[in-house]
Amino acid sequence: MKPVIALVGRPNVGKSTLFNRLTSSRDAIVADFAGLTRDRHYGNGRLGKREYIVIDTGGFEPDASEGIYREMAKQTRQAVAESDVVIFVVDARAGISAQDHEIAQYLRRLGKPTVLVANKAEGMTQGLQLVEFFELGLGEVLPVSSAHGQGVRSMLETALEAIPGLPDLDDEEPEVETGVIRLAVAGRPNVGKSTLINVWLGEERLVAFDLPGTTRDAISVPFEREGQKYELIDTAGLRRKGKVFEAIEKFSVVKTLQAIENAHVVLLLLDATQGVTDQDAHIAGYILESGRAVVLAINKWDAVDAYQREQIERQIETRLAFLKFASLHLISAKKRQGLGPVWKSIAQAHASAMRKMSTPVLTRLLLEAVAFQAPQRSGMFRPKMRYAHQGGMNPPVIVIHGNSLEHVPDAYKRFLEGRFRKAFDLVGTPLRIEFKTST
Ligand code: GDP
Ligand code: GDP
Repeated sequence: MKPVIALVGRPNVGKSTLFNRLTSSRDAIVADFAGLTRDRHYGNGRLGKREYIVIDTGGFEPDASEGIYREMAKQTRQAVAESDVVIFVVDARAGISAQDHEIAQYLRRLGKPTVLVANKAEGMTQGLQLVEFFELGLGEVLPVSSAHGQGVRSMLETALEAIPGLPDLDDEEPEVETGVIRLAVAGRPNVGKSTLINVWLGEERLVAFDLPGTTRDAISVPFEREGQKYELIDTAGLRRKGKVFEAIEKFSVVKTLQAIENAHVVLLLLDATQGVTDQDAHIAGYILESGRAVVLAINKWDAVDAYQREQIERQIETRLAFLKFASLHLISAKKRQGLGPVWKSIAQAHASAMRKMSTPVLTRLLLEAVAFQAPQRSGMFRPKMRYAHQGGMNPPVIVIHGNSLEHVPDAYKRFLEGRFRKAFDLVGTPLRIEFKTST
């Protein structure tokens, strides 16, 4: 599982600036909480081979007793609780404030690994001005400049090293194919995830089985349906209450992100009565970035009229256009309508994500595509495609070798993608095409 880093500190110390440095995500996931001036942001980052999740928090006043500040403090506490290490940001230029002392006290009591960082330290003679931050009782202070990038990398190394029990990447064993489809049901709060899961788990066709070595402290539910084994990965703090599963935390972005990473197939659930919201689009974007196979289902179809139906179908076409490769289902978990075909799409998406494509077949398809329509000349360069091989699974990657391939326009790449998708019947999985130019 990817380690989680939380950025904490009072407003204006530079947390968002640092967040942007630490994340490469095109689009951070935003958890919007009504009434907050600043939302929590979630993003992905990478240091060498090590990937991590960063949570940015709003301004934090631990003792805030009312209204918006109290809610912000609550959100920050949850982000800290969900993290493996905290980066506590102070302002090197402004010096220590009373608020910094309060936050430090809160973090010390918590005992979570914490790295103290003095931001805006560009051009400062190290040491002298930073001595005062030792008062916070959190050990050494690392000077960084988020705006200029100085010190950020070594700070990140320090933060990751502070996480106990983080496995060495070189020790991680490659995944073995077990035939079990790991499935995550993702979606905003209240779209109907627990309702759907309870309907599923109540089905007679579904048989529980024991899965050895179940993922650490996450609840996952192994079951078999019509001869296919599945492992349902917990996204929302699912807890068993008697025979019924309920989502107690209701919604945890970190759990959702980790479940997406660990799944083969993500069923993204939307709520027909709410349309496609920003948060839906953010989660969808994250799924795409993670490369996981995806099936879309719009729940509560029973509760909308013809006008709303048309409305939401149009929204999907525009706002979720980047998931065009996914199958779409209109369902009602509550009324148990439309659920059967969802299983078919899940199996199809999994099979597509794991498809094996041989070099001779890929190369033949490539050369046929080029014969049908060659890539355009770009100035002096005429891209020449020679052969193709599979570079990975889940998601499938096709590597195309040739000359001057850096000049291939995006439109042509999409043309090739369409041909490969059709030939290999790839539905529900992203397909990545990479070019390797030899001269
Ligand atoms: P946040 O409220 O903690 O998220 O802070 P922001 O990231 O919004 O930054 C607050 C202000 O500090 C902005 O005007 C930033 O441009 C500025 N800032 C952030 N990082 C640095 C830095 O490394 N050096 C300097 N000089 N200014 C910075
Ligand atoms: P979760 O937060 O995503 O797990 O959502 P829940 O399963 O707790 O459902 C939120 C609310 O939506 C509950 O009141 C459900 O009864 C309701 N709900 C769930 N599925 C449907 C559906 O298919 N149709 C309608 N009309 N309501 C539904």
